[in-house]
Amino acid sequence: MSSGTDIGLTTTVPVEAILAAGSRPVDLNNLFMSLADRDAPVETAHRAGFPLGACAWLKGIYGTVLEEGSPRRVVGVVRGDCSGTEVLLEALELTGVEVVPLSFPYPASRADLEREISRFCDRLGVTMRQARAAASELVPARRLLAELDRLAWSEDRVKGLDAHLWLVSASDFRGDPEAFTDELESFVEEAGRADPLSERAGLPFAREVRLGYLGVPPITTDIFTAAEEMGARFVFHEVQRQFSMPEPEADLVDMYLAYTYPYTVAGRSLDINRQARQRSLDGLVHYVQSFCHRNMESVVFNRTLELPVLTLECDCPGDLGAAAMSRLESFIQILGENM
Ligand code: SF4
Repeated sequence: MSSGTDIGLTTTVPVEAILAAGSRPVDLNNLFMSLADRDAPVETAHRAGFPLGACAWLKGIYGTVLEEGSPRRVVGVVRGDCSGTEVLLEALELTGVEVVPLSFPYPASRADLEREISRFCDRLGVTMRQARAAASELVPARRLLAELDRLAWSEDRVKGLDAHLWLVSASDFRGDPEAFTDELESFVEEAGRADPLSERAGLPFAREVRLGYLGVPPITTDIFTAAEEMGARFVFHEVQRQFSMPEPEADLVDMYLAYTYPYTVAGRSLDINRQARQRSLDGLVHYVQSFCHRNMESVVFNRTLELPVLTLECDCPGDLGAAAMSRLESFIQILGENM
């Protein structure tokens, strides 16, 4: 594979291999969300035959790649992310896109993961040693993301939306890890001097309600700002935090083995319960995307999580919808009145 090209990602992958190859990672979810008109790529996907009852993220990714004409190479995680990725890759391949499948092992196994990352490196024309060197270069950015997360939950100085946007960007470092690190450094410095949001005026309860966000990143970010208007704040972003690899000093393979999202839901619950205790959360919001197989995670979450959970479903980009907004408000009110 030649260097200097854009490589699209359908989710978090060992981005270190892409950077080591001299290519620019482009998270296709983030690219889709950055478009001014997000309905157009979804319509493009419908015209190509994607059913109305298919996940809007998949349709958005497909339509975005077609409409933008780029990237011409896409890495898709075919085990450990989305049951629709294989078909998505096939559909993209038919339009001339080169596809690179990647699998996270199930059950999680260090030896299997090392083989898979090594195979991925081979495909990109780099060695594991080069990928590990790229991982070392990402340590400052990942440390800053951990600090941003700490400022959000421990010092209450970061809004839920800002924490979401920074953490979710760790999948591709917005295509330029150096610029990302500089910008993040300024943001963290400024946040460190901000007044604590938990002391803001007008809170309707004895104190701010502390929420955790679970599940795939939302197709609308309304949820974070709406919660703050209702007297709550998201101080834990489960999957987004996992994208940031909270243990940046770990060996490359160990880092992606500790990454909980591709493995079991019960394993994710252990992480969520631990973080919920540390961050003194009051409740959890499980976001589910319409037509997503991951909605069934509720079966395991219901039996393994220690805090009250509200499940909210959303379909297309736009706003959260009146029904979901009203359920979020009732949930926050119940938590706030019972603190
Ligand atoms: S929301 Fe679910 S179905 Fe949609 S892309 Fe993500 S994992 Fe796949």
